[in-house]
Parts: sequence; structure tokens; C-alpha cells
Amino acid sequence: MKTVALNKELNIDDLKNTTEIELIFDNICDMSCTYCDSSKSTAWALNIRLNGFYNLETSNLHNEIFEFNGELIQKNLVNFTTWWLKNNNQVTVLKINGGEPMLSQYFWRFIHNISKFSYPQLNLIIVTGLSYSPSQIKRLHDLSDKFKSIQIIGSIDAPNGANNFLRDGRHFKIMSNIKHMLGGPTNCFVALQNVLSVFSIWSYGSFIEYNIKLREYSSKSKLDSLDVLMRGSSSLGSYALTSFNSGKRIDPIIPGNLRPFNSIILTSPAFQSILMLPIQLREFLYEDIFAVYTSLENELFTPDKKTIINCLDYIQSAKFSDNLESSRPSMERDLKKFTVEYQKHIDSSLTLSSVFPKIFVDWLDTI
Ligand code: SF4
Repeated sequence: MKTVALNKELNIDDLKNTTEIELIFDNICDMSCTYCDSSKSTAWALNIRLNGFYNLETSNLHNEIFEFNGELIQKNLVNFTTWWLKNNNQVTVLKINGGEPMLSQYFWRFIHNISKFSYPQLNLIIVTGLSYSPSQIKRLHDLSDKFKSIQIIGSIDAPNGANNFLRDGRHFKIMSNIKHMLGGPTNCFVALQNVLSVFSIWSYGSFIEYNIKLREYSSKSKLDSLDVLMRGSSSLGSYALTSFNSGKRIDPIIPGNLRPFNSIILTSPAFQSILMLPIQLREFLYEDIFAVYTSLENELFTPDKKTIINCLDYIQSAKFSDNLESSRPSMERDLKKFTVEYQKHIDSSLTLSSVFPKIFVDWLDTI
């Protein structure tokens, strides 16, 4: 997939014969997730301006501020839209990423301009932090007949208060937005995605349980419509069911418009990796997540199981490279410093002990 970032220099000739495009408009975002920075989030840029640089030893994250260049974005948006109107026939997947696309005026202008036409071959994918207003998702649903499919990838690291800590958004619409999206038109799909870090891994069991529970809201009528779509078009069936699973084809047996969840194992910044945890905490996590897995095994589909087992393998066996391992003391200092600085700009009620288990908080205290 070719990435086109409109907030960076763009060479439109690079798109020749491209069939899958990831399009980034800008870094407008109202959240400041633990692992993100100002290059993706204006909320992070504001936090750093208000509270100062973090001055970490092993990562540039929060040691600099990415400047927003509206003129460059506008110039690139005109060039890209012009290219799109002439060449869209060759594109089968357009994945919009952010920042938070739903908050970007450039995203909505692009959608407004391109939706004057239809794209029966195009699977439109939008990655969002789910904090938008319901009217925005309605606007997309209203355009669904212009596309082969619309898939929303909703980023959520925990289905509880921990998400407000991990993603510093304090958006209470998230859960209702997810349910609302599950009631969308027959060619609109939803998948939840989390990033597994030293912080979010403590909520992984709840994330899995939440995905299972959400199936209640995945409209039954979508079972038939998805089945029809798959029989009518092998490419959509293949794409919709494999895009989260390393490109490997799996059996299209999952009902409803809620797609299998995806879990990204964070490797950068390394000081926020799960591998920072001492072995006894990793064993604790392994047993905790494995218990959730076994209790839900009959309700999990093959892609869910693969995703969870991949995570369990990582917790049990993954190691830092020798280079990173030798930096462990500096990374521990960064983790501690980050945790202290980060709490200065999030809701003061979100203390470590209100969000994380004692075993993790106690370990952080030892650093
Ligand atoms: S929602 Fe996405 S862009 Fe915004 S801070 Fe989080 S990871 Fe970064």
C-alpha cells in the first residue's frame, strides 16, 4: 500500500499504477495517546507547548513539535484530488489515516469532492479514534452507495476508564459511536483496533471481552448482506476478512458487520514496549489473558484466536535486541519520566492506581 501524506512533500508521479493508497491529510487530532506525538496529533503539540518538552533519553517523542503547514496541505490536496478524479479506476483500496480524519476539514472537503461520483470497485477504509459526532458517521453512511464498501477501523485501547488515560481524550461518546456504526448500511463494516503497550496490555482481557459483547449489536441483517457481498465479489470477501490477518486468507464465517479485532504490538517507542516489564509481570499477564482466552474460546473466531495467541507468544517469548537490552536502564528512566510528565496534562482523577493493577503500579514505583 502506497502512503500519501499531504502534510509532507508529495510526488504525484509515484502513484502510477498504484491500486492501494493510504492517505493522510494532516495531524489534527483531539487525543494524545501515550505512544503518539505531535507529528500525528495537534493535541500532543498543544500539550508540549503548555507543559514543556519531555527531554527523554532514548526517544525523540515529545522532545520536538511538528509544525502544521496548511499551505502545503492545500497545495497537495488540490494535486491529489486532480489525480484522483482522473485515475481512481485503478484504485481498489483507499485507506484514510490521521491524525483524526473526522476532525480534518481537508478530509471532509476531499470526501465532498469525490462523492459527486461513484466508485463501485473501491473499498474505503477510515481509521478513527471514535470521538466524532454521530452526525459525521451518518454523513459517511449516507454516501455508502458511492463505494463498494466502507470500513471503519476504530482505535480503542480499553473499553473502560483506562482508555481515557491511554488516549487522553475524555470522550464519552466512544461506546455509543461504536454501537451506532454497527447499525449502518449493509456495505459498512466496523473493526476495533488496539495498540498493545506496557500500559494498554493490562486492559487486553477487557478489550477481548468487549469485542465479543459487541456482537450483540452487530445487526443480524448484516449476516445475509455480508454473505451476498462475498458470493457476489470474492475480492471484498477476501479483503474484508484478511486485511487484519497478515494477508492470509481465512474462512468467511464471521456474521454481522463487526469485523475481527486487530491488535498491534507496539515496538516504538521501545520504552513503552511490553518487553519493559520484568518476567514475573509478564507471567502474570500471560496467565490473565490466557484465562480470558479459555473462558471465551467457544465464542472466539479463528482470526480472534490467532490475534490473541500472537500476543501471548510475544508476552512469553519476545526479547529486545542486544542493543535495546543494553539501554534498558535509560529506557526505564524514560518510562518513569514519561509517566510523571504525561499525568500533568490528563484528567487529574485518572491516577495510576485508579487505572492500572497494583502489581504494575508497584513495579513503576521501584524505578
Ligand atoms: S488518536 Fe491517533 S493520531 Fe490521535 S493521538 Fe491517538 S494515535 Fe495519535
